[in-house]
Amino acid sequence: MSLKEFLRNILLFSIISSSLFSLEIEVSSRSIKLGEVLTVIVKDAEENKDYTIWLDDSPYPLYRIGTKTLRALIGFDFNFKKRNCSINISEGRVALERDIEKAKNKVLARALLTETEKQLWKGGFILPVSGRISGKYGERRIYKKSVGNSFLTWRGIHSGLDITTGKRGSPIVASNSGNCLLARNFPGEGNTVVIDHGHGVITTYFHLEKIFVKEGNFIKKEDVIGTIGSSGLASGPHLHFGFYIHSIPVDPLFFINKRL
Ligand SMILES: [Zn+2]
Repeated sequence: MSLKEFLRNILLFSIISSSLFSLEIEVSSRSIKLGEVLTVIVKDAEENKDYTIWLDDSPYPLYRIGTKTLRALIGFDFNFKKRNCSINISEGRVALERDIEKAKNKVLARALLTETEKQLWKGGFILPVSGRISGKYGERRIYKKSVGNSFLTWRGIHSGLDITTGKRGSPIVASNSGNCLLARNFPGEGNTVVIDHGHGVITTYFHLEKIFVKEGNFIKKEDVIGTIGSSGLASGPHLHFGFYIHSIPVDPLFFINKRL
């Protein structure tokens, strides 16, 4: 399936909203493409109560953004197969269920499941580096790299955005503020930085040459976190920029310069 077909497939998706309670529910859109994020706002919520949004039988946390206002962010990736969903709300907080056992990189998969009650980002997200977009979200990919006597192979759908500056060592900045969850090397991702922006929003930066931040650091938007490299499974120097909502990879371009 080409990227064009992939995107066309998704346009058919629609959302039907309903509510169990008399709470006011607003959805950002009635139809959505894979790679995009649906924002659900709940108004007139009780002040000391937690709620959960249900997309059919999948729960998503609602975080408080005002005294009586809550917000849920729901990301849709290429594994999402349904055409229609109903949105419901229940009282209490239900833990997200994700199977990380199948993940090749369990440390990374676990980090992506981080849920922080406080919103740490401010304003719009920015591109971490200015350059040419050399790989879009949703493209089909096969990677091979020899490591010692064997080959590492990864095949699947490109889950982020590749940006190339044409040279090694260009500075990479944080797309927005947050806590540094990971700053370490992995065989496939290379030198990796993972930033938790709160409310289940996480950005990832792969294939860095140098890392300038440490795990546990608070990073401000536009802080330099490292430099462009080709560590891990990379054919040349570039940044792989990932954007995750409750561990679901979404299109980073959807968020750039947009207020969440
Ligand atoms: Zn990439």
